[in-house]
Order: sequence, then C-alpha cells, then structure tokens
Amino acid sequence: MRETREARDTAEGGAVRVASVLRRAVAEGLIGEDRPLAGFVDVQGVRGSVAGLHEAFAGVPEVLHTFAAKACALVPVLRLLADAGMGCEVASPGELRLALDAGFPPARIVLDSPAKTRAELREALSLGVAVNADNLAELERVDALRPADCASVVGLRVNPQVGSGTIGAMSTATEHSKFGVALRDPGARARVVEAFARRPWLTRLHAHVGSQGCPLPLIAEGLAALHRLAEEIDARAGRQQVTSLDLGGGLPVNFADDTVTPTYAEYVAALAAAEPALLDGRYRLVTEFGRSLLAKNGFLAARVEYVKDAGGRRIALTHAGGQVATRTVLMPGAWPLRVSAHGPDGSPKRTPPLPQDVAGPLCFAGDVVAHERALPELAEGDLVVLHDTGAYYFSAPWAYNSLPRPGVYGCLSRDGYVTFATVRPPQTLREISVESGLEQADALLTGFPAPALP
Ligand SMILES: *Cc1c(COP(=O)(O)O)cnc(C)c1O
Repeated sequence: MRETREARDTAEGGAVRVASVLRRAVAEGLIGEDRPLAGFVDVQGVRGSVAGLHEAFAGVPEVLHTFAAKACALVPVLRLLADAGMGCEVASPGELRLALDAGFPPARIVLDSPAKTRAELREALSLGVAVNADNLAELERVDALRPADCASVVGLRVNPQVGSGTIGAMSTATEHSKFGVALRDPGARARVVEAFARRPWLTRLHAHVGSQGCPLPLIAEGLAALHRLAEEIDARAGRQQVTSLDLGGGLPVNFADDTVTPTYAEYVAALAAAEPALLDGRYRLVTEFGRSLLAKNGFLAARVEYVKDAGGRRIALTHAGGQVATRTVLMPGAWPLRVSAHGPDGSPKRTPPLPQDVAGPLCFAGDVVAHERALPELAEGDLVVLHDTGAYYFSAPWAYNSLPRPGVYGCLSRDGYVTFATVRPPQTLREISVESGLEQADALLTGFPAPALP
C-alpha cells in the first residue's frame, strides 16, 4: 500500500516540484547568466527515500543500511543521511574522510575499496571501521595489521559469478569481475571456507552483484548464494561464525519517468523469494544503496547559451555536458536522461515539440546529453533540466576542460515556499588554478634541485 502511494505521489509531484524549485532558484540568482549551471538536492525527498528503505526492511530484526558515498560525495548530503539514520559505505581514503567529517560513527562505516594500502587498512582497523577484504591476499595483510583490541567487523567480499545485467560496466558479479573472491573458480570455495576456519574473528560475508541494469532476480540469486556460503562456513566451524551478511547495493533506477521502480519493497520480496532465511534475523544484515536513494532527489539545471542549426538539425548549446553528465555523454545508450525545457524564469515551456540536440560546453564532439530529443523550441536564456541526476552526476564531476564545479543547493518546500541552503559553492577560477598547480607555477623552470652526489 505504502509503496503504491509513494510511487503515485512521486509521479504527480515530480514535474511540479522541479518547476517551483527552478523558478525560486532563478529569482534568488542561483542560476542565470553568471551562474549557468547548478545542482539541486530535495531534502524532504532524501528523507522520504531513506524512510521508505527502512520501512521495506521493517520486518528484519537487525539491519544497518549504509549509503554508498560515491553516489553523492558531498559532506552536507552525507550528514543529512547520517541524521536520517543511515550508515556509510566508503571505498577510498577520501570517502572515508568525508564520512568521518560528516559525523558517521566509525562503527556505522563500511570500507570496501578494492585496492586498500596497508596504511589505509591500519587506519580503518584502529578506528573500528568495518572492513570487507576484497581478496585472500588482503586478508593476510589484515592478519598482520589487526590490533589486539580491534573493534572492526572484518568480512570477505566474494563474487558469486551469477552473471551480467544489461550494462557490463555496472555488473560486478560476472565471471571475470575484478571484485571479490571469484567463488565458482576451481578450489575457490574451499579456500574461502578454510580462510574463515583459520580466523575466528572473520565474521562477515560481502557480495555486491551490481547496480544499474541488473534485474532483481539476478541480484537476489547472488545474495542467496552468499547465504549458502555462510551456512557452509558455519557448519565447518561447528558454531555460528558468520554473524552478518553485507548485501551490497545496486537497486536500479527508472530514468524514464517520475515513477520509483523497482521499489525497496520489491527488492525485499525478491530476496525473500530467492532465500527466505536471508531475512529471518539469524544473520544481521548490512545494505549499501547509492543511486536508488539519491538519483530522483536531485536535478541539474543549465542555461542555454546559443542555438544553431547544423546539417538540418537544431542544436542547443548549454552549460551541462560531460563535466557533470559524464556517463551519459560517454555511453548515451546505457545512460539516457530525461531533459525538460524551461523559460528564463524557470517556468516549463509549453510550445510544440521540435527535435533538438541538447549539447554541453566541452570541446569534444560527443558532448551531447540528448540527441534529437523532442522538446519545446529552445532559445538563448532558456533553462534545461536534467532529471534524476541526484546521484553520480553533479556530485561526481569530471575536470575535463577545467570547467568549474557547479554550485549545489539543498532545497526545502514549506507552506508553498521553497528555500535553499548551499551544499557546495560554485568553484572559483582561482580554485581551479590552485588545483592545477598554481603554487608550483615555476616548478619546471627552476624547480630541479641538483642531485645529491654519491
Ligand atoms: C557503488 C557500490 C554500491 C552502490 O551502488 P548503487 O548502484 O549506487 O546503489 C554498493 N556497494 C558497493 C560495494 C559499491 O561499489
């Protein structure tokens, strides 16, 4: 019931909400001629998505839901998620730092990076951050680095090798995936069981089947395999050694319209269908969701700078391209985005549709976010909205062409009024220069000290 209502509210409310936020953003000068690109995060929407996730798992005794930091690596957004009851999944020293700065207690952080250095492992294990080792060689490092009073839960990531979804680059449980211990390889399963038998402190199994493009039954099949492996390890140990299962993340997002599908309730139902005992509370659960929590709670708005015609096609040159929609411009078939047309004041344009390319500002030919898209005719000064871009878009910018990272604003609607809080100010040109070595400007002219003589 609840899920149906959630889906319907979103479908009706999405377009209206975007337009009212955009009008207000124009009025406040957050987007316009001098600031031609901005990202927006819907604070109530984020809280609602987190509440929906918790509700879908309400029947499961113990679950730690973590947010995959890479999906929206912005400290105020992470802090909002912590406040809403999430833990945090991190996969690099930078993400760990952001999670700590956002205020997640170490016990609610999970470190999953595939190439942790010894120093990173030592730091995580001394803080009490949960660590999922990617492979057996990493476990041997943990043997040597674990302090005697270690508070970290330590787990091992396995790859159930259940196959690929529709986007190869998003499928992490393929035969040759770089992630985890490939469980179906000859002898691998026995080596994993043995690794647990030798390490009584190894108590967690982790798998992440995939993300966008992976159907629920495929994800559920991989997690059912994880459960079977835990049972086998426990049988060998003669006790319950595995106390928690980290189920990874990766609920796909519907980029075609405002409907939330699949829902978290459907995800839980798919898990229950594949292996009912997954949810019976014998194993504590960890989840790691990114895109499904944030994508539909954010959007990008960009100004149209020029329109032109080329080879009989209309092209709008806007300020949103590969620097914020990297996946879409590099893999347009796999990552299509909805685009809507708005006038300079943010109101939706209602003129008859015309096929137009919506292009970005980068100096490479593939920098087009929508090809021959039917939209009301765009003109200089109009705004385009790139929908469902709250995860992995404005929060994961690409520095190509040294374009400034756009400002990101949280928005809140109260009694019909929209108010904003700055999440990340627009990057200044000086900051770009500093990042690009300004302090070392002379390094290649005078910066070569004489080598020490032997
Ligand atoms: C990226 C990632 C996630 C989150 O994936 P989404 O598709 O954004 O939900 C979860 N777990 C791991 C290990 C990941 O690498």
